[in-house]
Amino acid sequence: MRALTVRPGRPGGGSLVDEWPEPDPAEGDVLVRTLAVGVCGTDREILAGEHGQTPPGEDALVLGHEVLGEVDYAPAASGLAPGDRVVGIVRRPDPAPCLNCAAGEPDMCRTGEYTERGIKGLHGFAREQFRARAEELVRVPDGLGSRAVLVEPASVVAKAWEHIERIGSRAAWQPETLLVTGAGPIGLLAALLGAQRGLDVHVLDRVVTGPKPDLVARLGARYHTGEVSELGLRPDVVVECTGAAPVVAGVLRGNAPNAVVCLTGVSAAGRSTSVDIGAINRERVLDNDVVFGSVNANRRHYEQAVEALAAADGGWLDGLLTRRVPLERFADALDAGDDDVKSVLEL
Ligand code: BGC
Repeated sequence: MRALTVRPGRPGGGSLVDEWPEPDPAEGDVLVRTLAVGVCGTDREILAGEHGQTPPGEDALVLGHEVLGEVDYAPAASGLAPGDRVVGIVRRPDPAPCLNCAAGEPDMCRTGEYTERGIKGLHGFAREQFRARAEELVRVPDGLGSRAVLVEPASVVAKAWEHIERIGSRAAWQPETLLVTGAGPIGLLAALLGAQRGLDVHVLDRVVTGPKPDLVARLGARYHTGEVSELGLRPDVVVECTGAAPVVAGVLRGNAPNAVVCLTGVSAAGRSTSVDIGAINRERVLDNDVVFGSVNANRRHYEQAVEALAAADGGWLDGLLTRRVPLERFADALDAGDDDVKSVLEL
């Protein structure tokens, strides 16, 4: 079968559409036919040789962790049946489960020994068929159609929101204003979930052309460009989705008292910028502010993501899927420009 593979750790990655063997039964007893795979910044990092790990003893990794598929075969006891539409959970717990992995929260793994489909030590989904264990698959309603390829990025956002709200509930809290920095797929989905919560949503990005300003407006939200400090906002919640040093520095100041700032962008090390740590510390302490990081998602968050997408306007979600290309044209998907939001490989 065809598979999109990469040799991680080698810049340029040697990515290619390879002939690949049938999925190994050791991957799980449910066989899934891949319909679509979303491409994200993590895939580009793997291709740039900055991230990614092959399964032990192998020299190539099948890419792809945002998948929509259809079950071809499932054992009777699995709760799944042929024809079911599913998405795959990315992270598997560490082999000797830590406290969080044992509790069904591998997204909070403490050892770093977890594996991730298409990213770290496990082959991904960008191939015609894959296998998974039933507990690693989440059923999605047929009505979501091809938009269900957004469930994985939405799960990352659903986790961020769940944790924002848990932190917020440490005291009486009625957030009103949300600032999202970065209008990529994660930022736009964070804005969607903010709008669904009735917040006054503001989204900051660099670009002034393309679909992003309109997508933000269609949420009833305000689109901004420029510096965080010049927005004149005092947000109660910030979801930072750029990982860009000046933007990260910007969201550490000027928020409302009791604000919760969630960092979701993975930045490269070595991007330094000058900040006034004294002022940042003073404001955070005197305002009871929380700044925290969030990555990955567990099954509960995938289920929350399915609910959020099912409640969203289908036309708006379609607007996020700006490029759909066949697997062979993966280079076009990876080369997405400023006007692209989410590129999808179709199989
Ligand atoms: C994925 C996460 C993963 C993270 C780090 C993201 O793109 O959505 O599931 O944990 O990359 O590898």
